[in-house]
Amino acid sequence: MTNTNARFTVAVYPGDGIGTEIMGATRRVLDAAQSLFGGFELDMTEYACGAGLYRDTGIEISEADFKAGGDADAILLGAIGLPSVRKPDGTEISPHLRMRNEFGLYAGVRPVKLYPNVKTPLANPRAQDLDIIILRESTEGLFASVGKGEVIDDKEARETLVITRSVTERLVDQAIGLARARKAKGGKGLVTCVDKANVFSAYAFFRKVFDERMDLAPDLERGYAYVDAAALDLVRKPWEFDVMVMENMFGDILSDLAAGLVGGMGMAPCAEIGDENGLFQPAHGTAPDIAGQGIANPSAMIVSAAMMLTWLAEKHDTPALAKAGAAIEQALDRGFENGTVRPTDLGGNTGTHEITDAVIAELKSATA
Ligand code: ATP
Repeated sequence: MTNTNARFTVAVYPGDGIGTEIMGATRRVLDAAQSLFGGFELDMTEYACGAGLYRDTGIEISEADFKAGGDADAILLGAIGLPSVRKPDGTEISPHLRMRNEFGLYAGVRPVKLYPNVKTPLANPRAQDLDIIILRESTEGLFASVGKGEVIDDKEARETLVITRSVTERLVDQAIGLARARKAKGGKGLVTCVDKANVFSAYAFFRKVFDERMDLAPDLERGYAYVDAAALDLVRKPWEFDVMVMENMFGDILSDLAAGLVGGMGMAPCAEIGDENGLFQPAHGTAPDIAGQGIANPSAMIVSAAMMLTWLAEKHDTPALAKAGAAIEQALDRGFENGTVRPTDLGGNTGTHEITDAVIAELKSATA
């Protein structure tokens, strides 16, 4: 049954560095969307976590605040980490990795889209239409080895890659769902498996499971690319892709490469989806080099929040949320188009607050 006046809990973790700045901006946009569109209510609660908290208290997140994320309808995360703060073993503070693993957030959806007036390093005019999705598996692959790697006698180091059938099947099903939704809006309906199946049995297994699931989706095209060739083609002709699905480490690397094609990390949103939970966070880090200056580009965080609304809309059959999510993305697009959004990381001179004002102004004019 369609949900027409729904209330959703959102656990908000601003984190460190520019995480707090872009989260403040995004909450303003969400508040505006909620009051302009109606039909849903977001009950947002902020929780402390991250490197700053660890430095001050010795814990990176309290167990109660961690659990609140799992219990909420959705999680919004800014960014976590400070270069000067490390655990005694030298590793980074990362409750985010723990959330991915404990909440089963295996599907990292990373849209790569070129917004109007944003310069791409690609000379080919076809790059103007760049709009693809990198689907990064986010709980296993090479990252399954985090905390388990070994250095033997200072002579040899080992990490183990893990690919499971269960996660790969569900990941490919997510890719199929994304490609279908895009096809319904004029997309190519193409899912490309990115791997290194010619060398490693783990990637050959990934491709085998990919094929099995794609056999169940005859309405879609399928493609294959070895990860090295995929890197080349992401630079040569990225517009030929649609949805690209891949192992964790490959996705980590290629999604940064792809972000570089559309303006950099400030333009790299992300949704991390599991069977129950969804976490929405820009793909970038805390950017300590620009933190506290009011110049962080909130675009990736704002689009991640719009993706949260779209995901909640589908999960809970609440069209008002879908409408607000689409409107936020369109408002940002129009801001870029008419020049009110000109982030400094893209060579412009609008700060975090001005960009937020511009997006809210566009939302208002869309509903006037
Ligand atoms: P992590 O390892 O957590 O990904 P990092 O330090 O490698 O972090 P980022 O924090 O993403 O990487 O920063 C990489 C570069 O991109 C920095 O120069 C940073 O200033 C810039 N950057 C990242 N996000 C933004 C943003 N939202 N707005 C402006 N610049 C950004």
